[in-house]
Amino acid sequence: MSQPIVVIAEHAEGHPRPITYELAGFARTLQKEMQSSEITIIVIGEIIDSVAEIIARKTGLSVFAIRVPGLAGYNAEVYKNILSNVLTDWQPSHVCAAHSTQGMDFAPGLAVRLGAACITGVEAIVKQDEKICFRRAVSGGKIMADVFTDSPMVLLTILPGSFAPDPANVAAPGPVKHRMMESAPKQSFSRGIIRKSMDVSAVTEAEVIVAAGRGIGEKEHLDLIYRLASLFPKSAVGGSRIVCDQGWLDYAHQIGVTGCTVAPNLYIACGISGAIQHVSGMRGSGFVISINKDSKAAIFNVSDVCIIEDLTTFIPILIETHENRCAVSE
Ligand SMILES: Cc1cc2nc3c(=O)[nH]c(=O)nc-3n(C[C@H](O)[C@H](O)[C@H](O)COP(=O)(O)OP(=O)(O)OC[C@H]3O[C@@H](n4cnc5c(N)ncnc54)[C@H](O)[C@@H]3O)c2cc1C
Repeated sequence: MSQPIVVIAEHAEGHPRPITYELAGFARTLQKEMQSSEITIIVIGEIIDSVAEIIARKTGLSVFAIRVPGLAGYNAEVYKNILSNVLTDWQPSHVCAAHSTQGMDFAPGLAVRLGAACITGVEAIVKQDEKICFRRAVSGGKIMADVFTDSPMVLLTILPGSFAPDPANVAAPGPVKHRMMESAPKQSFSRGIIRKSMDVSAVTEAEVIVAAGRGIGEKEHLDLIYRLASLFPKSAVGGSRIVCDQGWLDYAHQIGVTGCTVAPNLYIACGISGAIQHVSGMRGSGFVISINKDSKAAIFNVSDVCIIEDLTTFIPILIETHENRCAVSE
């Protein structure tokens, strides 16, 4: 009998996260490539019946709901305990988790416990010499590597935005099986989730986004970014995660897998290297201009216009030239 493909669902507050459907889409693509294997989606948590039902209804795939009393939210220790137990019995060929904060937290440790290979940040499935390889970015996105393993079990983390979600509302819901398992964390405990109220509408609705990366050098240079953005109607300022982590911009401005997904007509990336986690959030942009002093920056691979300059000298000249032209035409 062929080994199953397992998907680990992500959910929060009684709802599946969108990445769960992308993982199901990935698993179906893999299933076709392997011409075998059933797919089972595992849902872990305390109150998960409705999450399991929703996933089964929307994907038509088998769902295995593992109720863990006392597990109100995500906990890496519990996930690793439960999954290593179940998957040791099942011996799946592939275990698919999200390349998210959660997936990256538990997947490598789980792979060690299962004696499985672990390939993270998968963006595509490619076949080479009849072998299935998983494509992932290396060197900050400058190089793509097609990784192959002959390990009988592989843990994969899938980059959000790389695979189309499984089509919603299939003809019949998949079967849902339930099981109760006990596992209490010994080392790490959640102290709850504090949700920050953010208004992300400025970036998601803007027609032009000027985005700042670490290359702006210091918070004061954000002034240049705001001045550049102000030249365009319906514009907004976005940022890379590093810029938000440093507190230079609020997280409502963050573009990328753990920030907003945007698709403006024009995206101007200033001092952004083009890490895949950033690019996944802006690759739907109509026209991309990048300013970076490194001619090999990965952002240039997804740009229509590449400006190899120091932004602190280039942007003031650009703004000044524009203002002079406006003054002449008045
Ligand atoms: C699970 C996970 C989720 C993540 N989610 C996100 C996300 O949602 N969004 C996101 O953005 N990142 C995310 N990241 C982080 C991501 O991997 C990168 O670290 C980040 O995007 C890099 O930000 P950056 O491009 O601003 O900085 P850097 O990578 O440091 O790049 C700075 C760039 O500026 C250029 N530069 C420097 N000085 C100048 C100058 N004077 N003029 C012009 N160019 C200059 C440099 O050549 C360089 O290319 C995530 C990472 C992980 C692991």
